[in-house]
Amino acid sequence: MLKSRFFTYSAGAIISSSLLLTGCANTSIPSNANSPEGVVQEEVEQSNQTTSNVIKSDEIQNIFFSEEHITISPESNYLLVLYSLLTDQTEIQVFPEDIIYEIQPSNLAVIEDNGLLTLSNDAVTGNTFDVVATYEGFSTQLTITVKYNLEDTIIIGGSEIPQITNQESIAVLVNKQRSLKDEYVPTDLVQPNIPFSFAGESEKKWLREEAARALEQLFEKADQENIQLNGVSGYRSYLTQKSIFNWNVQEQGEEQARRYSAFPGTSEHQTGLAIDVSSPSVNNVLHESLGSTKEGQWLAKHAAEFGFIIRYPQDKEHITGYAYEPWHIRYVGKEIAAEIMGQNSTLEEYFNESTPVSTR
Ligand SMILES: [Zn+2]
Repeated sequence: MLKSRFFTYSAGAIISSSLLLTGCANTSIPSNANSPEGVVQEEVEQSNQTTSNVIKSDEIQNIFFSEEHITISPESNYLLVLYSLLTDQTEIQVFPEDIIYEIQPSNLAVIEDNGLLTLSNDAVTGNTFDVVATYEGFSTQLTITVKYNLEDTIIIGGSEIPQITNQESIAVLVNKQRSLKDEYVPTDLVQPNIPFSFAGESEKKWLREEAARALEQLFEKADQENIQLNGVSGYRSYLTQKSIFNWNVQEQGEEQARRYSAFPGTSEHQTGLAIDVSSPSVNNVLHESLGSTKEGQWLAKHAAEFGFIIRYPQDKEHITGYAYEPWHIRYVGKEIAAEIMGQNSTLEEYFNESTPVSTR
């Protein structure tokens, strides 16, 4: 039973340097742009060897990753580097092939023998999972959050407002600085089975399938608790936004129109993930006063349970660009909704609070 492995120390190396194992002379470990400062991977030739230590398992005190929690972008890679702390306080990089990894839940990523973790297509913004590493009877854990990078999801130039490239993402961020493409129409628009404030067919009754199903559950829960809600305005096509904007330009002049109405392509309603809701108790108006009704308060309290957020909360205009809209709810999925509503935060803050350490 192999319980030890040879490590080679280069002359003058500082004690915290990670050392490349020379047990396999040709092993190459991909360089890790995310290595913590001061940690250098250097290849040490067998001939330059100055000290050789046999590390026995009983000399290992602990194993650890350099971080406990990292954030990486969808579809990206991350090189896992595990260290062992020896009883003499030396920190040594563990040979990747000796580590047993377990991913929980397992469908979100794969890890190759060299420690390279690659996210699967199932891993989307908002997901969090754990990587448990086991080596010589010791275990440690790294928590990974998947979150796209704002700068990586826009194209600047070619249009007045930067255009987003991830319009299909459930976590897409559309605001006055991030426009949808003119021609963008979601492919899975459906009409949720909920009461609306108006009769007849209209695109305003449509939402993307996932959001529609979640909305039905939200409304069902409201109904069970004797809270009456109505859908007022869901999907809004680019053409509708354009005609509203042009009408305002005609009525008020371009300067006023630009100040008070959404520039075509910047309405979140075009994603099919947002809907304005109100209540018969306030004649289905879209007004701030909804926020202080029992319906508005119920909505703010329970929206996140079904994956929705109050997209434009009170006192966040400087962040969202919009005044308080207690009626405008946005589907982002349960994980993101719980975080945003739990922290009284916004979608903008969700993406700005941390910059992903790894990008595609
Ligand atoms: Zn709205």
